Amino acid sequence: MITEREAKKQIIEIGQRLYEKGLVAATDGNLSIRVGDRIIATPSGVSKGYLKENELVTVDISGNKYSGLGKPSTELDMHLEVYKVRPDVNAVVHAHPPKCLSFIIAGENLSQCVIPEVVVAIGAIPTAPYATPSTAEMAQSIHEPIKRTDAIMLDRHGSLTVGHNIESAYNKLEKMEHAAEVMLYAKLLGNVRTLDRAEVDKLMGLRDSTYGLQGKVIRCDDDSLPQGSCNTSTSQDPSQNMSMEELVKVIIQKVLERLPEQSLK
Ligand SMILES: [Zn+2]
Repeated sequence: MITEREAKKQIIEIGQRLYEKGLVAATDGNLSIRVGDRIIATPSGVSKGYLKENELVTVDISGNKYSGLGKPSTELDMHLEVYKVRPDVNAVVHAHPPKCLSFIIAGENLSQCVIPEVVVAIGAIPTAPYATPSTAEMAQSIHEPIKRTDAIMLDRHGSLTVGHNIESAYNKLEKMEHAAEVMLYAKLLGNVRTLDRAEVDKLMGLRDSTYGLQGKVIRCDDDSLPQGSCNTSTSQDPSQNMSMEELVKVIIQKVLERLPEQSLK
């Protein structure tokens, strides 16, 4: 287990990365690390790019403050909820990544099986229902989804990624924002090609055996997701498997069916 001092240094370093990468603006976002039965967290109203060690707050799992000059963040309850429902998690990163958020604002999802590395490391990224920022609704909204996965989006708000340490929680955020950027360009070019289910099976098989990844993921082709995101055979255009001759026959047949009977006489 790391010391409280080490945890504070890690929070300051990851805060700088968040700010420099544009994953938060102004005083947005918050970070925390669990050290034993204590939680070290960022204070409210402070830029995450310029955190100072003595501002960071130390609280218990109920949010009672032990030390630190800062005021606990109004979104701390969301972090405490994660630590309550996920004993395997020791760090939480909440940010406002602009590209991921753009997908959510546009009513799109980030659960498509597109980039192999993202399929393996993050899986589908569900969106927690909208909750008014800085209220108790936020902790309630993430209660169910965070039990199943390490990376979720908060509707109209931002991201929440968790991990066994803060590097792991941060890396998931950086990876999902990069994936959102790639998806955005692909959409601008006109098409997003998804992986088929057999390939997703192969990739998920590599998760434990080859990559030794920890944490939780929801498969990107999970049937409980509201959107069918995988390229299954039923969703493909049947004409793709036909020869040109067969295709011409089908087209002629369709044209003939549409012609009024009179014109055929
Ligand atoms: Zn926020």
